[in-house]
Amino acid sequence: KVKLIEVTRKFNNVTAIEDITFEVPDGEFWVLVGPSGCGKSTILRTIAGLESVTSGAVYIGDDLVNHLPPRQRDVAMVFQNYALYPHKTVAENLAFGLQMRKVASTTIRERVEKVARSLDIFHLLDRKPKQLSGGQQQRVALGRAIAREPKVFLLDEPLSNLDAQLRDDTRAELKQLHQKVGVTTIYVTHDQIEAMTLADKIIVLNRGIIQQIGEPQEIYARPNNKMVATFLGNPP
Ligand code: ATP
Ligand code: MG
Repeated sequence: KVKLIEVTRKFNNVTAIEDITFEVPDGEFWVLVGPSGCGKSTILRTIAGLESVTSGAVYIGDDLVNHLPPRQRDVAMVFQNYALYPHKTVAENLAFGLQMRKVASTTIRERVEKVARSLDIFHLLDRKPKQLSGGQQQRVALGRAIAREPKVFLLDEPLSNLDAQLRDDTRAELKQLHQKVGVTTIYVTHDQIEAMTLADKIIVLNRGIIQQIGEPQEIYARPNNKMVATFLGNPP
């Protein structure tokens, strides 16, 4: 599980997130939504350890991880602009996180092939990133994170620079993949449809503060306030 208790992060006099408390049970897929600048990326970054917290506690499993560096947190994060290693092949990109952790090379090869098959990039393993389409690159970035078999998967708008069709396809693949693998996932988006179709639970954030947490249908049907209603496309 991933648990935040009263997490606040300030940048000088700007409060990016305030008093954030939630717990994602093992294996669930939660989606974090809200307008630009509301603090979504900051929440993911505090979980990943890329950002320290001003106050509050972050737990992964039963461990308080506040003071652990990213590499000791067993989370994998995929960013909006997912930089792949340009001089490495797809296979080498997928293997990178595993090599860093000194996993045996036969195990690495097996995992890379398995992930590549599930994301339909097996036929691309020997190519370099610039020989791939945007959607293929995005799948390699996802695959690189999945191959590490992290405890927690953090996805920050991973579909945002795909065209509409590819976005729909990749969204469906992601959903299937999660049903197969079941890694605890927090997924950031500002797209209502992604939130409604992917989430076990949705967290709605505005100006650094949680407005509501609930199942998609529940939030849609009974929004806590006007902001939530408007944001999820069911204005009063
Ligand atoms: P978007 O949808 O545009 O990606 P977001 O919800 O991810 O937005 P954050 O990136 O978490 O928003 O930013 C939340 C707030 O914190 C914003 O007001 C932002 O300007 C501020 N902020 C984020 N990082 C820093 C930083 N390193 N220094 C100063 N302010 C920051
Ligand atoms: Mg962001």
